[in-house]
Amino acid sequence: MQDESASKTAFARAIPSIDEILRSAAAIELESVVGREETADIIRTIVEKIRTGSEFDQDDVSREAIFERITQLIKQVLAADRLGRMQRVINATGVVIHTNLGRSKLSAETVIAACAAADYCNLEFDLESGRRGRRGSSAERALASITGAEDAIIVNNCAAAAFLVLSVYGRDGEVIVSRGELVEIGGDFRIPDILERSGARLREVGTTNRTKLADYERAICERTRLILRVHPSNYRIIGFTESPSLAELARLAHKHGLIVFEDAGSGAIVDLSRFGLDEPVIRDSIAAGADIVTFSGDKLLGASQAGLIVGRTETISKLRKDPLFRALRPDKITYAILESAFRAYAKDQAFETMPTLRYLSMSLSEIVERVNSFVERSSDKLRPGTTLTIIPGGSAVGGGAAPGVELPTALIAVEHSNIAADDIARYFRMLDTPVIGRLAEGRFLIDLRTVEPEDEDIIGDGLVGLSS
Ligand SMILES: *Cc1c(COP(=O)(O)O)cnc(C)c1O
Repeated sequence: MQDESASKTAFARAIPSIDEILRSAAAIELESVVGREETADIIRTIVEKIRTGSEFDQDDVSREAIFERITQLIKQVLAADRLGRMQRVINATGVVIHTNLGRSKLSAETVIAACAAADYCNLEFDLESGRRGRRGSSAERALASITGAEDAIIVNNCAAAAFLVLSVYGRDGEVIVSRGELVEIGGDFRIPDILERSGARLREVGTTNRTKLADYERAICERTRLILRVHPSNYRIIGFTESPSLAELARLAHKHGLIVFEDAGSGAIVDLSRFGLDEPVIRDSIAAGADIVTFSGDKLLGASQAGLIVGRTETISKLRKDPLFRALRPDKITYAILESAFRAYAKDQAFETMPTLRYLSMSLSEIVERVNSFVERSSDKLRPGTTLTIIPGGSAVGGGAAPGVELPTALIAVEHSNIAADDIARYFRMLDTPVIGRLAEGRFLIDLRTVEPEDEDIIGDGLVGLSS
């Protein structure tokens, strides 16, 4: 009995003090990352775990062994912290609008605009008169101009845009929607739920695959507030289908003194049909007579998260005056990024400067050329066991746009004689700049479509480091 408590005391004495551990190199590194208080907390937890755990033989304690174990545990915390924080990754999946990887990559110009706005800026200040100006007005003007709309307003995201429009125009009334458009986008955005929350009642018409103009007309009554058209985005109904054109819906709505609202989802500023994308072009929707059109800022448009709302002067003005708008308005950085992106479109430079459009429009021959040169450059440096194979494949548009559309690409399959594909993928995720590829049919695949040429070396160096 006496012996046991004596050895326990010896063990307790062998455990370094918190202060002593705080002076170790690992703890100093951790402190530089999470601060002193958090470091001390973490160390206390580690020490407690060692003190009460059975890792060490209580009779045969080596102070060095305990210190080494503590250092190891601190390093594990550091590693977890490094992976856990928000950071740049290389998107080698080829999915252009990759929702999990932040949807769109911003252009260099928009990043410069964002940095400028990070300083004090004229967000709500008119430089001409020296008086208060309207927040976001220059971005809104640029947006209206590239979509051919009379006016525009910007909120946090497209879900917020739909919510604002339905709340302001549908509240306490009925909103007519085709059954084929009661869609769910990305799991947590469901048209029926947003409608219910906005205080509007859903009036479903037609069937999943066919809805006629007459179905809409029959549903119009004194409670009707607006006709909603939703672009199904992430799925398509094909085969025996029918739905009236937006222009027909607009004529019908206007005849009854109602408005037509189109939720275009991704929405394109310029026609992208030559890349196989049949996404609504916002300018066309406005020309067809839609009173309000909403779409996302970070999908096909290629800028940052935002809900873009365009339409007629009076319709937009009513949205701007609603108290809900104040709760949904974006930050100054968002306005700066968007304004810069809208101007790229206005100057016809979007396909050169904006990554999303550059990647979408990249030709197969350009990709093949880059892939060949990459594989040639890398092959000599690979460790034994690693092989690269070029295979044909497709890149997805992503972001819930253009389902089923595959942009032809050339993929690099990375294989290793004794490392499984999953482990290769994990190895690339753990790099200082994580590289995210694709796993398909038991292989780790790299698609250079969404990789900037100057980032290819990061992948190349990663390949060289791949060994069992
Ligand atoms: C993506 C999408 C939304 C949601 O847009 P967020 O910007 O992600 O909020 C809403 N409606 C449609 C039709 C969409 O495709």
